[in-house]
Amino acid sequence: MTQTPTGKTRVVILGGSLGGTLAAAALAPHVSEVLVLERERMLPESPVPRSRLPQAAHAHMLWAGGADAIESLLPGTTDRWLKAGAHRIPIPTGMVSLAPAGWFRRWTETHYLIGAGRDLVDWGVRTAVLEIPNVRVRTGATVVSLVGDAAKVTGVVVRGEDGEESTVEADLVVDASGRGSKILEWLARIGGPTVDETVVDAGVRYASRRYRAPEGTGQDWPVIHIQADPRQGRPGRIASIVPIEDGQWHVSLSGTRGGEPTSDEALFEEYARGARHPLVAEFLARAEPISEVQVYGRTANRQRRFEKAAMPAGLVVLGDAATSLNPVYGHGMSAAAQGAVALRDTAVKTPVTAPKFAARAQKAIARPAAAAWLLAVGQDRFYPGAVGKAPGLGDRLAARYVHRLSHTAIGNFVVVKALTEVMTMKKPASVLGHPAVLFAAARGLRRPLLNGPALTERERAVLNREPLLREPLVRAEESRTG
Ligand SMILES: Cc1cc2nc3c(=O)[nH]c(=O)nc-3n(C[C@H](O)[C@H](O)[C@H](O)COP(=O)(O)OP(=O)(O)OC[C@H]3O[C@@H](n4cnc5c(N)ncnc54)[C@H](O)[C@@H]3O)c2cc1C
Repeated sequence: MTQTPTGKTRVVILGGSLGGTLAAAALAPHVSEVLVLERERMLPESPVPRSRLPQAAHAHMLWAGGADAIESLLPGTTDRWLKAGAHRIPIPTGMVSLAPAGWFRRWTETHYLIGAGRDLVDWGVRTAVLEIPNVRVRTGATVVSLVGDAAKVTGVVVRGEDGEESTVEADLVVDASGRGSKILEWLARIGGPTVDETVVDAGVRYASRRYRAPEGTGQDWPVIHIQADPRQGRPGRIASIVPIEDGQWHVSLSGTRGGEPTSDEALFEEYARGARHPLVAEFLARAEPISEVQVYGRTANRQRRFEKAAMPAGLVVLGDAATSLNPVYGHGMSAAAQGAVALRDTAVKTPVTAPKFAARAQKAIARPAAAAWLLAVGQDRFYPGAVGKAPGLGDRLAARYVHRLSHTAIGNFVVVKALTEVMTMKKPASVLGHPAVLFAAARGLRRPLLNGPALTERERAVLNREPLLREPLVRAEESRTG
């Protein structure tokens, strides 16, 4: 047991970002105390950037599967986001998307996504979690190792801001310290198992910038998304505009190995123009940039199979620390959120202190992450220069079937519904093998392909405006104050 008062159970969570705070919400009802250890000096009380979350400078789409998981852990969070200016965007109605197979129709709503800056998403969750009486967050606390042995983890060693190290004991340790987690190294140091790790890296680099949304574009503006086509045999180039709070557009451009964007502001819109269609560049020419261009390149898919290893009891790994995904598919937050739900559901059936808890929870956490993994690597393996196992016959057949589905989806509602169920992580990819979907795919298009983006009159009217003359950068702060 732990250093907590006799009979009490303590969970220690490494990392106070999305995965860590959701894990706290998941476990708080089942234990006496949850302590979140976060290396950031302070977690902000408002939705503003923090230094230990560099990916927040890039557009983050939160699909329905993730948003619903968060809502089930922390009821009322969606309302908190929406009141703070987030957009609820119906899918596929509010999505102007060029897929490899062509332009998607904007069918009636099947699902939705939350359009919000990542700092706003985290703030909404963190605020709710800090209201839970038995959850405490200690900031400026960097975990440097595990305490325990190959059979059981009993705590962690933490370094404070003064450089002093101390031990924090726990009945359960949850590692949610993100993509840079040192868990494999820490496990090795206590004599733990070697964990299978697979990497598939398309070498994706992001460049992102915020724009003030042009006048009249309002709350019900669609996501604009120009996808790459891995079958073209050249580096992929992706461009997207996500409407977010404060009347802004969060614009992310990304390119796979050999076709990466740079941080050069003068080249930003030109890069967007080189995507498979210039629509994003056309909209940007009529909007005002309000931030610098930020770049980011740690985007490899990395899957660590903790659920298959002989892990010590008392240790669970969640979120990016277990499976990190190429972000262009927008699944990382949703996989972390569904992992936290899996943690809660395991705690409902098995006491957190039971020797089998960690292994059961790890298996449950792995399921949603594995679904997102297959979707990402199923495409990424095909880009030129991709690092990792080359696509085999099975991968090629699966990719052909997904392309056929995506083609059929343009003119067939049964298929678009199934595809959006998977894309939004509301259902596993197995729904794509349902007889009705197989039949629809075999029958093909029910309506013709579109020869251009399906824009409304109001959206088209923005494109009819004169492009803006580029003036010196207006900073985001200035735009907010005045
Ligand atoms: C460019 C980019 C764009 C993305 N876009 C999307 C998107 O559109 N949709 C989507 O769903 N996902 C997206 N993602 C993925 C998403 O950012 C991650 O999946 C998500 O942040 C995972 O959450 P996490 O809590 O596991 O890790 P993180 O959010 O990375 O948090 C880890 C936390 O642990 C803390 N920490 C690290 N080490 C220690 C330590 N030793 N001790 C204490 N604390 C520590 C860090 O300070 C940090 O707060 C994107 C990612 C990138 C890089």
